[in-house]
Amino acid sequence: MKITSVTPWLLLSPAAYNFGRPGEYIFVEVKTDENITGWGEVTTTHPAANRAICAILQQLDQIIVGENPLHIEKIWNKIFRRFTYMGSRGASTNAISGVDIALWDIFGKVHNEPIYNLLGGPIRENIELYTHPDPDIGPDEAKKQAKAIADSGHTAMKFDPFPGFEDEKNGYLSGKMDVRGESIGVEVTEAIREGAGPDMELLIDAHGRFDVPTSVRLANSVEHVGIHWWEEPVPVESNHALQNVRDQINIPISVGERLHTRWEFVDVLENNLTDFLMPDVTWVGGITELKKVSTMSEAYYIPISPHDASGPINVLAGAHVMMTVPNFYKLETARHRLNAYDIFMDKPLNVQNGRLLLPEEPGLGIEMNMDYLRANSHEQFRGE
Ligand SMILES: [Mg+2]
Repeated sequence: MKITSVTPWLLLSPAAYNFGRPGEYIFVEVKTDENITGWGEVTTTHPAANRAICAILQQLDQIIVGENPLHIEKIWNKIFRRFTYMGSRGASTNAISGVDIALWDIFGKVHNEPIYNLLGGPIRENIELYTHPDPDIGPDEAKKQAKAIADSGHTAMKFDPFPGFEDEKNGYLSGKMDVRGESIGVEVTEAIREGAGPDMELLIDAHGRFDVPTSVRLANSVEHVGIHWWEEPVPVESNHALQNVRDQINIPISVGERLHTRWEFVDVLENNLTDFLMPDVTWVGGITELKKVSTMSEAYYIPISPHDASGPINVLAGAHVMMTVPNFYKLETARHRLNAYDIFMDKPLNVQNGRLLLPEEPGLGIEMNMDYLRANSHEQFRGE
């Protein structure tokens, strides 16, 4: 069995849960000479970044066409080593992730098993989710949506209550938040607690946009509401800044969506910089790498909670790994109703009472809706 092509599909989809960004997804199609096709996803966070990743993916034919798609570890390493001189972590691991997920999909289809059965088998029956309200909403709407999320059976939800998440107008990150912004953040957080009730685990995403004193001040301002984690307290570039915040706040910390490969998790684990890890299966290095990072995290008794800000394959790929991981917390989804994804696939994601039930079909368990993909893809980044 041989790989015959790698194709990025850049979907321009009005169906997207876009968090205020243009609705785009990158799906990755890996074809073989035995009529078995695998699918992955890489969707990232800006139109320019999406196109850059698609351009990298279009170059992978020359590295992996002709390889046996079942030799996943070999292919992972082959792509990784080809890119080490341009920076082995970040863009190159995003591209690897999309291919790796597609190879696991092929592996499952060849063996006629769901992916989790090939990763050690399930240790749980389904996947507990956490979810989001809409971004940038006032306290009344936040309270209403928090209640709807609680009523849907979810036991945790994440939000960023502080204003000004749009790119800094000056083109750089100031790291600051004024007193008015702080008050709005506290008000929205209190409203969410009121709507969600006392049992909901509230996760706040600081989105790596604050300097050390600002992050400490804002964490302390919402501590009284009962916050389960304070995510990405500072920009990802400085673990010293992360340590500094950690020393000064009482809310547990979560980081990881901007860490790539097992090597970037070593410092965070060894230096006790976090309480939760939240790698993204479509950025960290795919299913292969998420499983490895989960095992590293298990050795430190740190719970793992895959990040998701994109589409249905991200959710499914993270879920397949977490079916096999003891130290799992919850898996992120963009919204508590995921039916905007239905259009992409042959069946909807099966979410019941805040839990994802995985499909029983082999591989990821879904097939893509090719008519929809063909009708809604960027002309430069698509297959046939
Ligand atoms: Mg985040």
